[in-house]
Amino acid sequence: MSTGCRETPVLKERGQREVFCGLTGIIWLHRKMQDAFFLVVGSRTCAHLLQSAAGVMIFAEPRFGTAILEEKDLAGMADANEELDREVARLLARRPDIKQLFLVGSCPSEVIKLDLSRAAERLSGIHGPNVRVLNYSGSGIETTFTQGEDACLASMVPALPATDAKELLLVGALPDVVEDQALDLLAQIGISPVRCLPAKRAAFDPAIGPNTHFALTQPFLGDTHAALIRRGAQHIAAPFPFGAEGTTLWLKAVAATFGIAPEKVDQVVAAPRARAEKAIAAAASTLQGKRIFFMPDSQLEIPFARFLTRECGMEAIEIGTPYLHADLHGPELDLIAAGPVISEGQDVDLQLDRVRAARPDLTVCGLGLANPLEAEGLSTKWAIELVFTPVHFYEQAGDLAALFARPLRRRAALTRQHPNMMEAAE
Ligand code: SF4
Repeated sequence: MSTGCRETPVLKERGQREVFCGLTGIIWLHRKMQDAFFLVVGSRTCAHLLQSAAGVMIFAEPRFGTAILEEKDLAGMADANEELDREVARLLARRPDIKQLFLVGSCPSEVIKLDLSRAAERLSGIHGPNVRVLNYSGSGIETTFTQGEDACLASMVPALPATDAKELLLVGALPDVVEDQALDLLAQIGISPVRCLPAKRAAFDPAIGPNTHFALTQPFLGDTHAALIRRGAQHIAAPFPFGAEGTTLWLKAVAATFGIAPEKVDQVVAAPRARAEKAIAAAASTLQGKRIFFMPDSQLEIPFARFLTRECGMEAIEIGTPYLHADLHGPELDLIAAGPVISEGQDVDLQLDRVRAARPDLTVCGLGLANPLEAEGLSTKWAIELVFTPVHFYEQAGDLAALFARPLRRRAALTRQHPNMMEAAE
């Protein structure tokens, strides 16, 4: 009988990695936090990354920008702090709508050891209480791209007010439409009030205390989890709300914390759960029996592997994750049948060797690895697309399954049209 993967020995690798940096999170965070501004203290490379990642969006009043560190800053010939203070003063004078300003560190600011936490303190003294200035690092030296959100939310936690009220806190930046679905389900189950981190506006920021029970909606929030525990809040351990099963288990864990029976959850979710199962089944016909390999990238790999193996009939060969947090991922590992390699960290060449040896039907990986693997005849799914697409809770469960089915359908169609070409690639 399967006992899950929680006790499976983890293959730990430390070597060259292939991931985007934490600045990428600004793309979805600035949409969510409507009176925040993200000021990247970085080089032109950082500015280009943000502009190209956000390239399709045009704002009358953008909510992120880059304070460019010029060569003289990098050489230590200028006082970067003075320039930063001037830049911030100019920005805030022009934009009275900004209530939270995040100074976002980058590789260049880390290399010259610019102390952004002191800068944030100094600038909060000057511009507070109207504007709260916080800082976090999105540097690519040590972070993977979803850690940007984790670092941002973790930086907010110490500044949040205190409360003794028993409240549910949802943690993780969800698209508004998805967050509204979750709040509606929780209200029908009988749970209120519910607070969100991040809130849409600084004025709605939650308060934290020993009776705050928090449920994570994203599996990459390890530092935020630790910061909330330090404030005395209590974590609701549960699988993440992906797929019909994951969403139901997540809701039941939250309900149990508030003394609500699982039968009540079953009654409330019957219709949306049935819709989700039907939508998943439509995509699962393509996924059934297919073998999947996860390169470590988004930190969503473990919950997605659970969803794909249990609800879509896939077989996981290797589940790689940049970081494995037992508190966050344990309930997921319990549900994944023993068999796949569980790996943490990356040594990209060794891992590519394992992909080539296994020749999976689908490899989930970063953009930089996808094209070479496709050229070798392997189907791939870009991990970053999974973060940018709404995939949580019941109404998006079918879309989540379809994201994995699409590359397999595309390859099947290409093979039908160009059988000789596909054989040559393989
Ligand atoms: S933070 Fe580092 S990895 Fe990210 S864009 Fe800037 S220089 Fe590149």
